Amino acid sequence: MRTWSWCGVIVLALAAGAVPPRLHAQQNPDTPLPQLQSLALTADVDVDAGTLAGAATLVLRNTGASAVRALPLLLNRLLRVDSVLDAEGNALPVQQAVVAFEDVDTWQVTAARVQLRVPIAAGDSTAVVVHYHGHLVGYTEVGMLYVRDRIDREFTILREDAFAFPKVGVPSVASMRANPQPPFAFSTAITVPEGLMAVTGGRQLPAETHDGRVTWRSESRGPAPYLIVSIAPYRVAQRGEIRVYHFPEDSVGAQIVLGAIGAAADRLAEIFGPLRAAPSLVVMEIPEGWGSQASLAGGIIQEAPAFRSRDQLQALYHELSHLWNARDLDAPSPRWNEGLASYLQGRLARELDGWTGERAALERVRTRLIESCTADTPCGTIPMRDYGRASLTDRSYLVARLMFWLLAESMGEERLDTALREHFQRVRETGTRTDDLRAALIRVGGEPARRILDDWLDGTGWVARLSAAPDLAALREGYRR
Ligand SMILES: [Zn+2]
Repeated sequence: MRTWSWCGVIVLALAAGAVPPRLHAQQNPDTPLPQLQSLALTADVDVDAGTLAGAATLVLRNTGASAVRALPLLLNRLLRVDSVLDAEGNALPVQQAVVAFEDVDTWQVTAARVQLRVPIAAGDSTAVVVHYHGHLVGYTEVGMLYVRDRIDREFTILREDAFAFPKVGVPSVASMRANPQPPFAFSTAITVPEGLMAVTGGRQLPAETHDGRVTWRSESRGPAPYLIVSIAPYRVAQRGEIRVYHFPEDSVGAQIVLGAIGAAADRLAEIFGPLRAAPSLVVMEIPEGWGSQASLAGGIIQEAPAFRSRDQLQALYHELSHLWNARDLDAPSPRWNEGLASYLQGRLARELDGWTGERAALERVRTRLIESCTADTPCGTIPMRDYGRASLTDRSYLVARLMFWLLAESMGEERLDTALREHFQRVRETGTRTDDLRAALIRVGGEPARRILDDWLDGTGWVARLSAAPDLAALREGYRR
């Protein structure tokens, strides 16, 4: 399974593979992009005509230093803005055109520019309501092969990847990278024909039926990295606060997925200790090839093969383990939690499913790091502790994964679990800093743990060690001498 996006870096991660890297902002500092605080999406979806009519209320905050006078918006190239209203109900002037991204000439979008009646002062927020309608088309020609999005009775997905709802932005990958979207709150009211369900990763609210159509409502439980609405003739399998929305033909698989989540949650509770509340999680089945994606707050969309084979469950284990992360007090954070989740996903697959591919997967991580983090690259010269400041947290998944594996090999898995449990139980109410984790690991793991942390967390000693060792066994032996 190719999981396109861990924990919410959606379009940026995709575009990163499609174009040469341009790391520095091209954005004019005089025209900062306001940040989305919340998105309320109302949409009427006509699965027979293949169209939707939507209204998106965007609450936006100007985090820049100067006032924002105009709002740039992006939509799917087959969607058109009908009108934009401000919070007082005034219609705002809109210009729009179908254009290509300035740095990806196959990527066509509807780009709109909304003139605000009242500029958003620095630090202030405002709301606009964007009414829009049209068809939805995928973006396979851009290289995003999983974005096959369309409106269809069998399966419909509304997500930012295809700009199915308005996004603040200009058609430029460089600008999108310079303006990453922080997590936001969402609510939805999606109307579809009876027999279909429209679900999100949020809390499901009561649905209303009228004239053969159903309006499905949801709201996020907290800030989410993305909003995905999945529409299909779903059935639901539920255990406690864990719900699996599955295609009618996959009811057996849904029970397997539900059982696997339950077993993983039990195992994680042994490793970290109990959570304050029972885990709550939404899994939405999507067709094969449409791109699995996972976040607790945004929900998990999971391609159909995971409902037929346990080999595909690691993305679920990864996300589930994040429930045991204390609030991250490092700002910006190096996000070692991603490496811990990546380490745990393989370990849980081994322990619960008898997966035999863990070592091979770790060796692939080793190879990727050797190839990409050479002495002349940022990740080859900047310690993981500084990955947040250096915008290198996509490397945390790999570097911290090997670090936690090495710690487990050095201390033994049980003692690593003891360190993780003591740390989590100590900081779960207060939040944690990287130094708290480091201290907990050294308290249990002693001098060998300190040497590993010096190399992998606080320094870049791992770069030379990794390329000098022919395999992971040799790397591990290097820390025993
Ligand atoms: Zn993650």
